[in-house]
Amino acid sequence: MVFEKGALIAEGKTKRVFELAGDARRAVIESKDDITAGDGVRCDLIPGKGAISGRTTANVFRFLNKHGVATHFVDAPNDRTMVVQRCKMIPLEVVIRRIAAGSYLKRNPEAKEGEKLEPVVLEFFLKDDARHDPLIEKHEIMKEKIATASEVGEMENLARLVFLLLEEAWKQQDVVLVDLKIEFGRTTAGGKLVLADVVDNDSWRIWPHGRKEEMLDKQVYRNDKAINAEGLERVKRNYEIVAEMTAKFVDTKIE
Ligand code: 5GP
Repeated sequence: MVFEKGALIAEGKTKRVFELAGDARRAVIESKDDITAGDGVRCDLIPGKGAISGRTTANVFRFLNKHGVATHFVDAPNDRTMVVQRCKMIPLEVVIRRIAAGSYLKRNPEAKEGEKLEPVVLEFFLKDDARHDPLIEKHEIMKEKIATASEVGEMENLARLVFLLLEEAWKQQDVVLVDLKIEFGRTTAGGKLVLADVVDNDSWRIWPHGRKEEMLDKQVYRNDKAINAEGLERVKRNYEIVAEMTAKFVDTKIE
């Protein structure tokens, strides 16, 4: 796909969003080489991470599009770049959990790490760095006019579908998808709710063979508070492994 970046629209900790020159209905997302934790308090550079993360997110979106999920993904003209439908982002992080881990354990002290959650648990967090992205209830989302009741319902259905599809794709490689964070937007072209942003190795917890000790995701970086060059190299290797594994998703047969 031939494309030309226009003006910078937004810059996040790990990506930049540009206009697509000559096409107001689309945008360009470029992954950066930064890796951050603790609301950006910790930040490191992993040369090449942007391209590796870009490959992962394109693999995930191609797989989801193939299985009928409404996403913003149009194409990935190179490893670090996606062309997407331009969206107005809904300022929520939607987290779906199959296994009790992470912040869920703090909010639910009776839960044991590793315990299976059946059905999956769905949580909304408000994107607000100053307040450390607090949990937000559905009635507050509607009251604050962040999304309508029908949009909340749509996000719940789509979030479950996305999780179940990715859970199955990972299962076929003997990896347990523990939890997943996704974000939604409304297309500027028609206001349709779609899965947006990126879904990469920063977005989930994945435990090969169901073993936390073998985790391949960003949690390795979050846990290593005094990370050195060797640690960053290990994190990069994990991200490369995940990019390779997700390349197989598109051929995954879903019953
Ligand atoms: P927890 O709420 O347990 O810390 O995280 C739940 C899931 O959401 C994990 O898979 C984690 O990686 C993901 N997650 C939570 N916050 C963020 C965030 O700010 N950015 C990204 N990319 N993922 C997040």
